[in-house]
Amino acid sequence: MQNALKSRQAVSAATTLEISDITAEVASLPGFDAHEQVWLGRDAERGLEAIVAIHTTTLGPALGGTRIWPHASFEAGVTDALRLSRGMSFKSAIAGLALGGGKAVIMADPRKDKTPDMLAAYAEMLNALVGQYITAEDVGMTLADADFLAERTPNVSGTTKGGSGNPSPFTALGTFVGLKAALQHRTGSDDLKGVRVAVQGLGSVGWALCARLHAEGAVLTVCDLDDARTERAAQEFGATSVEGPAIIAADADIFAPCALGGVLSAQTIPLLRAKIVAGAANNQLATAADGERLRDTGILYAPDYVINAGGVINVAAEIGSGRYNVDGVMDRVGRIPATLTRIFERAHQEGRTTDAVAEVMAREIIEAARR
Ligand code: NAD
Repeated sequence: MQNALKSRQAVSAATTLEISDITAEVASLPGFDAHEQVWLGRDAERGLEAIVAIHTTTLGPALGGTRIWPHASFEAGVTDALRLSRGMSFKSAIAGLALGGGKAVIMADPRKDKTPDMLAAYAEMLNALVGQYITAEDVGMTLADADFLAERTPNVSGTTKGGSGNPSPFTALGTFVGLKAALQHRTGSDDLKGVRVAVQGLGSVGWALCARLHAEGAVLTVCDLDDARTERAAQEFGATSVEGPAIIAADADIFAPCALGGVLSAQTIPLLRAKIVAGAANNQLATAADGERLRDTGILYAPDYVINAGGVINVAAEIGSGRYNVDGVMDRVGRIPATLTRIFERAHQEGRTTDAVAEVMAREIIEAARR
């Protein structure tokens, strides 16, 4: 791979795109974890500044979305890509997928800086990485953007044209069955009738999760920045809505974060009344110490990248064999509860946090494949 690209050179005379290997330069940043490679793509003419972080390719090509976001600094953008790509390695490994972990960040405001030229330059960068990294949607990148890229590069997944399409229903299903596994582990029953669940975020995943919870008799408290969504949840699911941070302190048995990352912190954990945290949001723990805080407070935490793997499982089904098969996806999503139960039991036996155990298990899978 290193030979395929020459650092700090335009990829061909016909393009204004320059790609550099910045792995050594970013090795001291927080979030760096022996990443295989970190690439910087710059095209001043077409307004592209993209970081592609490849954490591992041991199990397969590095899969992970592209986040188009105006990070406060270049370092903040790289750090985001480093952390997210590592999470993708662990997510795919634990889900049993033949995929590595990667993530890209385009330093731009998706509302005003995203242009066809910029995306075309990015597609060139993806082509230059010769299949080492496969992208998908993330914050700031839409299905339409994925389709646009797919016309220019094979290294994009989750498109509408011949791809696996919207991953959210599968993420919601995996989160739902994973939440039930956490309830079973905690209380000895997975019957949701009368169980109080506080759901933060009523977007693609949060809404579909609420629908499933409501159908099995759970009592919902919800919150979203968009009042129209909470009003609709009140009508359709009989949900009570609360504003902003009040969702964290809601009188509930289960807290399901389905909005932002970093929601579990030294400030918020003492406010939690729920005894289970099981939701779809990525990077829920603000720091690793927050996993310990949850355990020490007696709260069972379903590690985010284990419970929310339904989406990547769906995307993975279009890679490799090339034949998307929804039955295979459902089968694999159906294994999320058993994986979580193994993590809960091992955490109990070893006196560790559930997120620490999930990481050890993911690393064991990657190491075994390396040998
Ligand atoms: P989305 O953008 O469709 O929905 C997010 C919702 O959260 C929106 O309705 C938004 O208004 C709301 N929100 C944002 N900030 C909030 C706040 N402070 N308080 C309350 N509500 C707030 O996103 P999504 O696809 O539903 O994803 C939700 C989470 O799950 C994200 O963290 C995402 O990274 C993660 N995730 C999603 C998938 C997937 O398949 N979509 C897969 C894995 C992980």
